[in-house]
Amino acid sequence: MSYHIPKTQVAAVVPGRNQSVVIQHDFPVTQPSELKPGQCLVKMIGTGVCHTDLHVSRWDWPIEPVTPLVGGHEGVGEVVAIAAHTEASPVKLGQRVGIKWIAYSCGDCEQCRQGLEQNCVSAKLSGCTVNGTFSQYVVSWVHIVTPIPEGFDSFAAASVLCAGVTVYRALKYSDARIGHWVVIPGAGGGLGHLAVQYAVAMGMRVVAIDTGAEKKKLCLELGAEKWVDFKQTTNLVSAIKEACDGLGPHAAVVTSPYSEGYTQAVDYLRPGGTLMAVGMPGDAKFETSIFWTVVKNISIKGSYVGNRQDSIEAIEIAASGKVKVIYALKGLSDLGQVYNDLQKGNVAGRIVLDSSK
Ligand code: NAD
Ligand code: ZN
Repeated sequence: MSYHIPKTQVAAVVPGRNQSVVIQHDFPVTQPSELKPGQCLVKMIGTGVCHTDLHVSRWDWPIEPVTPLVGGHEGVGEVVAIAAHTEASPVKLGQRVGIKWIAYSCGDCEQCRQGLEQNCVSAKLSGCTVNGTFSQYVVSWVHIVTPIPEGFDSFAAASVLCAGVTVYRALKYSDARIGHWVVIPGAGGGLGHLAVQYAVAMGMRVVAIDTGAEKKKLCLELGAEKWVDFKQTTNLVSAIKEACDGLGPHAAVVTSPYSEGYTQAVDYLRPGGTLMAVGMPGDAKFETSIFWTVVKNISIKGSYVGNRQDSIEAIEIAASGKVKVIYALKGLSDLGQVYNDLQKGNVAGRIVLDSSK
């Protein structure tokens, strides 16, 4: 099998710092002969838009992106070329695969050997330190791409590859168990609406925190038992404690992109509870009581995407129908508008882009 690979493609490009996204129709396509052993070329079908893409496009974070930047890190496509001299490829030409935030990890360093591939000393980041999925052809690595189960909608699968994997891992390491209360600040957003469902699938009881009627309806439909609107509630701490037997939740999985989603978590958590830091405001610091963190035996943990195994688990749970990605489908050329909507907090669930439009 061989595919016709064009020389140019459509890509959504941020030319440089403080610049808006532009749609370029003549962005070069890496040709199969240019791939290095171990690499493959993936023809994109669809890609989700994560708030991370917005952070990266605005240089919000202390990680310097490439310029010009092609963002995007949760995409599904078809393998259309595999580099010469690639041995024992686990994926075949024509297979559907997923591209994740961790574009590459070596597999050999201490972090990789311990399953923390996200912290690989040689990690490359899709749509940040290497070009990502907001284009029609993406270079990836055969051992890193995630196979997509047959019959699973490509557009839905796309958003599991970042949003889904991230919240699945955060819940897995949160120490919350069946019957425990978990609060999710940011529950109506891309990560949050999947967190609600993974938590319910794990037998946890969910309090969703976000704002507005649309996100409320979404969270309750997806299985959250209680809803707290952070803009309308005057005393968030007592509202959340009250929602969880008067004692507070066993865990908080914070998916808000702003520090405000974090500030009161130590106050409302149940003694012995865990704060899982997932949302990533670029320059914010934890402002929380050290005294109460100690006295309440609170654990504060960061959780960064997931490794290849977490990704396969998250995909299989979603493909089995237990978790549904609620998305609106747009085209690659709509990316600028999608960034505006994310910035304003207007997106309930996820926006996924059709790579052909
Ligand atoms: P999103 O914009 O789709 O959703 C964020 C939600 O947070 C929105 O619904 C918004 O209304 C809500 N929100 C805003 N302020 C809030 C507050 N004070 N309290 C409660 N909710 C609040 O964003 P997303 O794509 O879901 O990403 C969320 C964050 O997670 C971003 O910072 C992103 O960079 C980060 N992220 C982290 C990882 C990781 O590995 N840890 C992976 C992916 C994304
Ligand atoms: Zn992401």
